[in-house]
Amino acid sequence: MTRKEIWVYIERNNSGVEDVSLEILGKGTELSNISGYILVGLIAGTPEKKLIDLVIEHGADRVALLKNEMLNEYSTDYFVNAISEYIKNDPPEVMLIGATQNGRDLAGRLAGRLKTGLTANAITLSIDREGMLLAGVPAYGGKILAEIGCEYGRPQMSTVRPGTFKMKEVKNKKGEVDEFIPNLSAIRQRVRIVERNVSEVNDLTRSERTIIGGNGTRGDLTLLKELAQLMNAEIGVTRPLADRGVAPRELQVGSTGYSLKSKIALVLGVSGSEHFTSGIRDCEEVIAIDVDEKSEIFNHCDYCMVGDIFEVLPLTIKKMEETR
Ligand SMILES: Cc1cc2nc3c(=O)[nH]c(=O)nc-3n(C[C@H](O)[C@H](O)[C@H](O)COP(=O)(O)OP(=O)(O)OC[C@H]3O[C@@H](n4cnc5c(N)ncnc54)[C@H](O)[C@@H]3O)c2cc1C
Repeated sequence: MTRKEIWVYIERNNSGVEDVSLEILGKGTELSNISGYILVGLIAGTPEKKLIDLVIEHGADRVALLKNEMLNEYSTDYFVNAISEYIKNDPPEVMLIGATQNGRDLAGRLAGRLKTGLTANAITLSIDREGMLLAGVPAYGGKILAEIGCEYGRPQMSTVRPGTFKMKEVKNKKGEVDEFIPNLSAIRQRVRIVERNVSEVNDLTRSERTIIGGNGTRGDLTLLKELAQLMNAEIGVTRPLADRGVAPRELQVGSTGYSLKSKIALVLGVSGSEHFTSGIRDCEEVIAIDVDEKSEIFNHCDYCMVGDIFEVLPLTIKKMEETR
């Protein structure tokens, strides 16, 4: 038996919850209206009531609370055991998890434990008439959007790229809370957090102005950083730069990085592959500079400039400093 429900894993962090969890609830509300499935927020640990209220206010019809203090800190072993024990005999039709580091870790292990399929890093979600979840991911170098469904296993699982969907607050929404107290005393925790390092990198998905550098920068972000300071902008990079360690992975824009909703995105020395452009499609205004007048990036921007960034940027910086 399956429950006609869509479950959204609510990932907790130091300041409350990860934005992506609320973004998925926003999309989940839409899917629930179409399919008639109930939308459930799954929270683990012993959260404050205001967090439960927040989840309901963002669309959940019900909160499933896995109540145990051992779940206040993420641990693969505890979380996989607690969630799979809770749902294995009566799984929901759909389970969605934010594609954060911990979310990816949890989703893969959980899908294995529940013997079901998992789509990674979806950027579109729909439910067809037969109740199949279709999770869209760019494929074949981004030339197509593959919609992947899971015919047999339940729940149908997908991780969802942060920044892809919009949060929606639902006014005066009421929701119930179901509590389940998992017994984790016999579970061996194979990985334990011994030290916590908080990343100093700002959240790109909230950046209003972003300057994104690609291979055309030759891995030197000095000019971009100077300009970013003048524009009060954040820096992002394409995947090759993140792969080479020029910038941390949290700054990668694109299908396996982050999606931006910036008011202005300045894209410098980037060729415009689909894997990259899917990360800037929701930006309000995109300005691109590339030395190659036939660059594909010019099909994905509002303003284009053919030029060498090592010539254009110093002049731009000089002009901005003069007019300041
Ligand atoms: C499964 C998968 C997932 C992927 N996910 C991502 C992702 O999330 N994000 C991502 O970015 N990529 C991703 N990629 C890689 C992606 O397909 C491209 O290879 C990548 O985006 C190319 O990066 P780029 O534009 O910086 O480099 P290039 O393709 O090398 O382009 C460099 C550009 O700079 C221009 N240029 C060179 N010198 C100058 C100069 N002096 N001034 C101005 N312009 C100059 C060139 O004309 C060119 O257009 C993924 C690939 C796969 C297979």
